[in-house]
Amino acid sequence: MKQNLKFLLKDKLSKNELELMPSSFDVVGSILIFSDFPKELSKKEKIIGEGILRKFKNVKTILKKTKKYSGKFRTPKLKIIAGEKTKETIHKENNVLIKLDVEKVYFSARMSSERKRIADLIRPKERVLVMFSGSGIYPLVIAENSECKEAYGIEINPVAHKYALENIKKNRLENRIKLFFGDVTKIMPKLKKKFDRILMPLPKGGENFLRLALKHIKNNGITHFYDFEHESEFKKSEEKVRKACTEAKKQFKILRTTKCGQYAPGFYRICVDFKVI
Ligand code: SAM
Repeated sequence: MKQNLKFLLKDKLSKNELELMPSSFDVVGSILIFSDFPKELSKKEKIIGEGILRKFKNVKTILKKTKKYSGKFRTPKLKIIAGEKTKETIHKENNVLIKLDVEKVYFSARMSSERKRIADLIRPKERVLVMFSGSGIYPLVIAENSECKEAYGIEINPVAHKYALENIKKNRLENRIKLFFGDVTKIMPKLKKKFDRILMPLPKGGENFLRLALKHIKNNGITHFYDFEHESEFKKSEEKVRKACTEAKKQFKILRTTKCGQYAPGFYRICVDFKVI
């Protein structure tokens, strides 16, 4: 699709403008999102968007990111440049359907293979907790693709939580997924439960919640801690795990550190999988 974009716009843009066409974008359901749409092409954005819509019939709306993921809810600002005037869509991945508004709720389609990696690690009858569960995508992929006993999700963004409730119904997984609205620091102590596995998909600032996770993981349980780090410094993320475990007086073993996607040259979203012994 990427090569095709330049080809299909070759009669609408000059050679220089074609050079500027972004090579990266995301497709979430029927919405195509440009993360780095160049300012120089802003006068041509409607022509570009309409050209894409004519060619790719499953794409209904074209958006460009005007502000990066930010704030507590980790949401972007997005502008409609062509197509249907909606930011809500239904996306399919790993055998689940997920409905969301791409501006009001964090979502990354690029993480689908990471979500499948986690689902494949889950053993029968595990009780799994997803801190920071967003639209419910991790609990859904896990419940649909593993034999876990149940998956819990906790989310502080009310709009994301509302979609998550709708999504577990849409996928008929209400019996195996339990969702809670609120701050993990308030909800987790009230659950009075320990888990076989805890996921921490909050790469910016997730380390502040490692202590909390350690209070709720069973002995021999596995935690998946997400972080952003330069490829030469992955040890720093492992060091955050070591520090939290040492302070909590827990013995631990780092099982692996996995690259789950590049977000800038040399910088990756990574996942440190560790076991509390
Ligand atoms: N797991 C989802 C996914 O992969 O699509 C969302 C990940 S997003 C990077 C992090 C999420 O954590 C956001 O939806 C945000 O609202 C939520 N969040 C941030 N701080 C939180 C807290 N203290 N308690 C519960 N949720 C929180």
